[in-house]
Amino acid sequence: MFDVLTGSFKNAVSKIRFRDDANALKKATTELRKSLLKADVHHKTTKELVDAIEINTKLLGIGQEAFLKSLQKELHAVLTTAGNQGFVFSNTPPTTVLMTGLQGSGKTTTTGKLANYLKQRNKKVLVAACDLQRLAAVEQLKQIAAQIEVDIYFDDNQMDPVKIALAAKAKAKAEHYDVLLIDTAGRLAIDEELMKQLHDVKKAIDPDEIFYVADSLTGHDATKTASTFKEQIGIDGVILSKYDGDTKGGVALSIAHQVGVPLRFIGTGEKMPDIEVFIPDRIVSRLMGAGDIEGLAEKTSAIIDAKKAKEVTKKIKKGEFNFNDFLDQLNMMKKLGSMKSIISMIPGLSQMAGPIKDMDLENSGEIVRIKALISSMTPKEREEPDLMNISRKKRIAKGSGLSEVQINKILKQFKNASKMAKKLSSKGGMKGLQNMMSQMQGMPGGMPKLPR
Ligand code: GDP
Repeated sequence: MFDVLTGSFKNAVSKIRFRDDANALKKATTELRKSLLKADVHHKTTKELVDAIEINTKLLGIGQEAFLKSLQKELHAVLTTAGNQGFVFSNTPPTTVLMTGLQGSGKTTTTGKLANYLKQRNKKVLVAACDLQRLAAVEQLKQIAAQIEVDIYFDDNQMDPVKIALAAKAKAKAEHYDVLLIDTAGRLAIDEELMKQLHDVKKAIDPDEIFYVADSLTGHDATKTASTFKEQIGIDGVILSKYDGDTKGGVALSIAHQVGVPLRFIGTGEKMPDIEVFIPDRIVSRLMGAGDIEGLAEKTSAIIDAKKAKEVTKKIKKGEFNFNDFLDQLNMMKKLGSMKSIISMIPGLSQMAGPIKDMDLENSGEIVRIKALISSMTPKEREEPDLMNISRKKRIAKGSGLSEVQINKILKQFKNASKMAKKLSSKGGMKGLQNMMSQMQGMPGGMPKLPR
């Protein structure tokens, strides 16, 4: 996601690596300007950023370190806009947020993602289906709400979004919800009718905040429409959706700098966990290729049950890690979101780990086969696969659609992996990890090879 920008910064820095004169600085800033424009960063943002870096580097005394320091400082300045960061709760619940955006921007999906993000942080969330413009929007939100197990307010017989929003707010108050997220109508383009409807809902509801969902794939248009929404409705934050699909990435810098309201979250994939809070410090760290361990820890701590993790570690140590635990771990990984979205949070990994990026844990052939096998096993067999005799394996083969050879192979590989994990947990250390990785490469769903 941030690869292109990070690459641009690296290129620019390389121009000033061995020389510390004005000429080298000029080369570095020229390179930076060119690559920022190519990455779709707005020309005004590019100019301001590059000029400030040049001045700052000169002040510090030209050299690579000064250039890096200036880059970090000025990126921070570009990404920081006065206002709230992340999700901010009001003093009097329910915190009410209007979700706005053009049709197709990802507004309904983002409403679900945000609800899921808050639910994982133990908040009681209600979503309200007030997008009556797009025929399938209410149905889509119902499906999302069911999937993430969050309550929804809708009224199939009511055509007035203001009335639905008011009724949802009354329910949220009466039933002590922490947060109410209202999915509003979108249009293919900004028009008067849409703005009037949003005004009416805003006036009736008096929301704590209004979020605008901007589609990164629309490039410079995303900045323009966000600015128009800000002028006409008044928005408190931008959520940049589909950032995973944007190969250039510059739109994040442009929006943060040009619109004048803070970027609050970014959407990093189609699935519900694929949303990240936008905190300038952390994003700068990722842009500089230094990862975001703090963000990763926060993300995992909301998902990983510490008690369960301890239990699993104990089991691994005893060599008792079984297929039930394996399924549990797979499901937990699913909650973390796409691999792509977490790669850039680990320092150095985005530069190193090409093959992991597109790994689809859930749908890879090997995982599908293992899941088919596990679902045909009894709970007892999942704990102790050795209980299965030849005739039982034959029956499982029929039920799972796998051959006996495939079944035996999976069982053997799983046994080996479990033994390796046990050994590793008692020996520990990097060497053990490397051994395990090389042994697991042959295992279904095992670690892909990291490039040297
Ligand atoms: P709405 O009309 O604004 O409510 O848009 P939807 O929520 O229906 O989203 C439009 C499409 O964008 C859907 O196919 C979503 O799955 C997809 N989408 C939304 N957010 C993201 C994202 O962050 N990444 C990717 N890759 N797709 C997204």
